[in-house]
Parts: sequence; structure tokens; C-alpha cells
Amino acid sequence: MRNIGVDADRLWAATMQMGEIGATAKGGCHRLALTDEDRRARDLFGDWMRAAGCVVTVDAIGNIFARREGADPSLPPVMVGSHLDTVPMGGKFDGPAGVMAGVELVRALNDHGVRTKAPVEIVAWTNEEGSRFSPFTMGSSVFAGQLELKDAHAARDITDPLHGPTVGEALGAIGYQGDAPVGGRRPACYLEMHIEQGPHMADEDLQVGIVTGSFQSRYFVATITGEQAHVGPTPMAGRRDALVITSRLVLEIDRIGRAYGADGRSNAPHIELFPNVRGVIPGVVKLSCDVRHSDARQLQRMEEELRACAAIVARESRATIELERYYEFGPIHFHPDMVALLRRTTAELGYRHRDILTVAGHDAVPLNTICPSGMVFVASRAGGISHNEKESSTRDDLAAGANVLLHAVLARAGVVD
Ligand SMILES: [Zn+2]
Repeated sequence: MRNIGVDADRLWAATMQMGEIGATAKGGCHRLALTDEDRRARDLFGDWMRAAGCVVTVDAIGNIFARREGADPSLPPVMVGSHLDTVPMGGKFDGPAGVMAGVELVRALNDHGVRTKAPVEIVAWTNEEGSRFSPFTMGSSVFAGQLELKDAHAARDITDPLHGPTVGEALGAIGYQGDAPVGGRRPACYLEMHIEQGPHMADEDLQVGIVTGSFQSRYFVATITGEQAHVGPTPMAGRRDALVITSRLVLEIDRIGRAYGADGRSNAPHIELFPNVRGVIPGVVKLSCDVRHSDARQLQRMEEELRACAAIVARESRATIELERYYEFGPIHFHPDMVALLRRTTAELGYRHRDILTVAGHDAVPLNTICPSGMVFVASRAGGISHNEKESSTRDDLAAGANVLLHAVLARAGVVD
């Protein structure tokens, strides 16, 4: 193994500088996909990569590729990436830390005059979070051929469904609907560093998590139909308030997540209320919810219990509840070659590590369907809180993950002596 490493201070400074774009009062970051803040973050990334000697291209869904040419340009590139968008009032690390690890590893290769055989491409994927446009991991999914470009372009701003732009319009507005065709090429491999977004690594004093795969998740929209009525005159006994009925269902969903051991998860994070005005008892609610588990049989039982609870709440409330499963995710198994490479590299660098599963979606998931892909986690501090302004990691956490990526890239891209 070559005696080179990343510059931990420079990586930290880049992550902090990137975090200034959309910075919030409490130290977080608010930078939704394809907003002006996202544009400024993209511009900064492009400027840094051009200054580092890379050729920067943008594809038709706005993914940005910074290519450091290899000695043999005909070889498929080794790709490293993550995302620059955040959730509303999110943190500085979820996404950008992985892109900054890519920036830093190119700078480190330059510092040490390393010439790789295969090209190395650092990627910032469009709209990983899915907070403003659905679905999540949008750019990487189009690149991997899992989502049609025209469907992605047609997705409308869910934070402003009446007046907000489509993805196509928003890309045009920020100048990031690029000329390069999306996908149609297979990288040699794909590597991503991400914060854990949970407390386990910090609790166990680990430096690197080797992500072997994912939990399984099933996503639903529940449509709860009660009866719209006047808030004042309607007697309490006769009401079929869709929000009250939904509240009962939300408590059941939360209970299910707690009933399936340490790996059980359940969420009901998004609600649409009709008509959602003062003076009217809500008649219809659309509730997004999901169940997650590391074990397929347990997950199946969670879904069955969710359906049974919905039926009971509906019957007891004289309402109807329709539960539509609209998406399923996992289980993902990252490519065994990449898992082995990352494990070996981490061990050689002497970092405290263990295997870990991701409970959240990441860009590496769609990439894993077209090329060997792997991920490393670095510790999340502040109790592992994420999608929150308090989200944090340390300078040394980020440097450990970036060093693993650097040496994994050298192993896969090959070095010209
Ligand atoms: Zn992320």
C-alpha cells in the first residue's frame, strides 16, 4: 500500500465551506434539490474540480461528473460520489461529506503526483433526498436505467404543487440541464462514503463501517376517508374526522415499529389533509408510511400487522382506509468484491471497523445494479441524529472514510509507476 493519505484539515475545511451554502442559524444546512442554494453548491464543486485539473460534464438529469483522466482513457472510470442536496433544515454532512471525500481524494492524488491507469470520476448526483421532487435517489436512478428520464423531468415540486416547477424546469432555471446523455455506460465500480446517520459506530468507538447491504423497506400511501363536516355544529358523537382517525393509525404504526426488536422501524412522516382549512372537519387524509426490517420474514409480518390495524381502525371509526404499497426497497447486497476490498483496505489502514447495514437509501443502491458498488460509513456524532441541524461528524471521522476511499480507488484504478 502506498504511503499517501488525504489532508484531514483540507477535507474538513471543504466540508465546512460547502456547508455555508444554505447554512442555518443552528449550524445545519437547508439546501433543497435544484434551488438556488443547490446551484451555488454545484458551482462550487465544479470550480474546485476544474481547479484540480478535472473535466467537468453535466448530464440531462443534472448529475455532475468531474473526470480525472487516466493513463488509458478507454478504460471505464472508477466512480466516487454522493449528493449535495439536503432535506429541509438538515445537516452539513448527509451527502456533501461523501462528495467532499471525492474532492479531497483527487487533491491528494494531485499532491502526490499519482497517475492512475483508469480514469477517476467524482460525481454529485441530483436530488438524492427526494424532499422537493419524488422519487429519492433520482439522478443515480436515471443514470442506472431504473427511472425514465422523461418521468424524472416531469416530477413536480411537492413542496409547492400548484406553482412549483417540474424537475425539467428547475434544472433549466439553475442552468444544470446538461448536454451529456444520462447513463448508457458502466463504471468500473462505484464507491461512496456517507455518515452513518445512527448512533452505533460512535457508541462502539468505530472509525469505519463497511456497508454490506441494506434493510428492506416497504412504502405505503394510506387514504383515510371519513366525512367532511362543519366544525362547530356537528355533534362529537356523529363525527368521522379523518385526522382523528389517522391519529389512531399513526399510533399503531409507531407501535408496530417498536414491536419487532432492535431492527424494526416504522414511520409516518408525511400527511396531506383535505380540505385543510379552519372551520371544516377533515374528510380525507393521505398518509405516507413505511415499515423496515433487516429480516424478510419479520418485514412481511410487519406489513400484515399494519394492514390488520388499518382494518380495525377503519371498522371502529366507521371510515374506509385503503393501503396502497407503492414502493419496495431492498434487500440490497453490495458487490462482494467491493465489500472485500473495503474491508481489506480499512484493515490495512488500521481503522477500527465492522460490517454494518444501511437503513436508509443511498445513491450506491441504484449504482450497484450496473456496476460493483460499495459504501463506507463514518461515525455520526450528537447521538447519531441526522436529517437535523444538529447532525455532526468530526474531522477525523471524515478523514478515515476518505482515506479508505483513496486507497480503494488506487487499488481499482491501478497506478502507473
Ligand atoms: Zn445522504
